[in-house]
Amino acid sequence: MSARRILLLGAPGAGKGTQAERLCKTLGVPHVSTGDMLRAAVAAETAVGKRAKAVMEAGQLVSDEIVIALCEERLSEPDARGGFILDGFPRNLVQAEALDELLVALGAPLERCLAVHVESEELVQRLLKRAELEGRVDDNEETIRVRMRVYEAETEPLLSYYRSRDLLREIAGAGSIEEIARRIEEALGRP
Ligand code: AMP
Repeated sequence: MSARRILLLGAPGAGKGTQAERLCKTLGVPHVSTGDMLRAAVAAETAVGKRAKAVMEAGQLVSDEIVIALCEERLSEPDARGGFILDGFPRNLVQAEALDELLVALGAPLERCLAVHVESEELVQRLLKRAELEGRVDDNEETIRVRMRVYEAETEPLLSYYRSRDLLREIAGAGSIEEIARRIEEALGRP
């Protein structure tokens, strides 16, 4: 596995967070999740948290300006110099272009985009289960459907964006956590 600057792409519930954490341990690079950063900001009641709270609860996207600034700050920290796993950013084309610019400025372009695919009814079931276990405010059925629609409209176009740059590798997201992790490692091993 040579790539260390990696983006995980996938619908809500596709298992990106779980796989990102595993991969971070294997590669020894930080997990950069804008969702986690935003949830921390909401919990700490910072200015960003106050602006993001209602939008997140509704399942909509927080403004590009906020998430681009969060990502820029995080990727500029010293521990991200040796690589990173991006999870949940970028979520639209404006963010993808901002990320490209930032990484060019840092002299460290993205090396791989891994897209984890899971069938949409399975995603809804997984998220409802997570709602019971974790109690995330945006894991209720109505908000889940909104998040799916937002993903299809805003984030799915990124598949062709990264495919056209020859960075995309697609992963079947069905099966156990270990099975998916193996597919990811295989995809990272391939040139
Ligand atoms: P996640 O944990 O990645 O599913 O993110 C949870 C919520 O945080 C999303 O539904 C959005 O409201 C917000 N969010 C996280 N990342 C982004 C992003 N890159 N752009 C806009 N909103 C985001």
